[in-house]
Amino acid sequence: MRIANITAHPVTLDVNPDIFIQSSLGKHRQSPYVLVRVETKDGHVGHGEATVMPRWSGETQQSAIAAIEELLGPPLKGLDVCDINEAIAIMDREMYANPFTKAAIEMAMWDAWGKTLKQPAWRLLGGARRDLSIPLKISIGAFPPAEAARRVLLAKDRGFKACKVKVGIDVKTDIERVAAVREAVGADFPVGVDSNGGWSESQAVTALPGLERLRVNMIEQPLARWDFEGTARLRRLTPIPIMIDEGIFTEQHAMEAIRANACDIISIYPGKNGGIRRSIRIAELAHTAGLECVIGSNLELDLATSAMLQVAVTIPNLSTRVNHDIIGPFYYMEGVTTPRIRIEDGLAWVPEGPGLGLAAS
Ligand SMILES: [Mg+2]
Repeated sequence: MRIANITAHPVTLDVNPDIFIQSSLGKHRQSPYVLVRVETKDGHVGHGEATVMPRWSGETQQSAIAAIEELLGPPLKGLDVCDINEAIAIMDREMYANPFTKAAIEMAMWDAWGKTLKQPAWRLLGGARRDLSIPLKISIGAFPPAEAARRVLLAKDRGFKACKVKVGIDVKTDIERVAAVREAVGADFPVGVDSNGGWSESQAVTALPGLERLRVNMIEQPLARWDFEGTARLRRLTPIPIMIDEGIFTEQHAMEAIRANACDIISIYPGKNGGIRRSIRIAELAHTAGLECVIGSNLELDLATSAMLQVAVTIPNLSTRVNHDIIGPFYYMEGVTTPRIRIEDGLAWVPEGPGLGLAAS
C-alpha cells in the first residue's frame, strides 16, 4: 500500500447564482479549488480536495498545485498510505501553514487507505459516536433584510431547520437583517450570526441587546481573528454562546483560546485545520476543556464535505445546540464525484462506501 504518485489538478466551479454567499469578507461566486489524487503501487486511488480561498487562508489554486507537486508530494512517495501521522509531520517539515493544501493530501490518504481495507474512513478513526446524518444550518449572506428573509424561507422550504446570518458590516443594518430573518422564520427556528471578524469590540457590544432580543443562539467570530482577549470580554457580557472560527486554525490557537476563556464553541473542519486527524485533535482538546465543536465550512465540494462528515460522526463533543455548516454541495449545481453528498431535510449523510465514500470523475 505504498504511495506511488501524488498529483494535483485544478477544478473551478460556479456557485449557484441564486444562492451565492456574501459576507464581511466579500462575495463568493466562483470556487477555484484543487483535486488531489494519491495512487498506491498496487493500484488503489484516493482523492482529496484543497478548498483554497486566498482571503481566508492565503492559499490559491496555483499555490496549492505548486506546493503539492514541488514540495509536499515528492517526500511522501514510498510512504505507506496508512502512515498518516508521519505524512503530517513530513508536510509540516517541508512547508509552514497552508492547511487546506495539506488537508487535501491527508484526506486522500484516508480515502486510499479506506479503499484498500474496504472500510469507511470513520471506522478507521475509531467508529461513529452518533447517527450517520448530521443536522445542518443554512448560511444567509449579508443581504438587505427583504432579500435575507426571502433566502431563509427558500432554505426552510428545502428542509433546513436552522440558520446563521452573516453580520459584521455595520450594526444597524446587521440587526435589521437578523430581525427580518427572525420574523420570516418565526420564534422557534434557531438563528445564529457570523460576523467573520467584521465588528470592532465596541460595535459587537452595541449589537448585543438586539441579538439577545432576537433570541440569537450563537455569535460566531464576532471580533478579529487574533483578538481572544476582546472576545473573552464580550463573552462575559452575554449569555449567547460565542464561537471562534477564523481565530482557530491550529491546536496552538485552540489552546490559546481555551486559556483566554474566549469561547463556548470552537468551529473546526479538516481544510482549515490541515486535515481530518488535526480537526479531531482540536475537538479532543476542546472536549477536555469542556467546549463543544461545530463543523464550519468554506463552501467545499463533495470530497472535502465527506471529510467533514467523517470528523462530525467521530468526535466526542459535536454540538447539539448549534447545527453544522456541512452545506458546501448545496451551493453548486454540479459536482466532480459520484455519488454526491446527500443533503436533504436539513441533514447531511455520510456517504456509504469505503474511504470517503466517493469516486472522483
Ligand atoms: Mg464562519
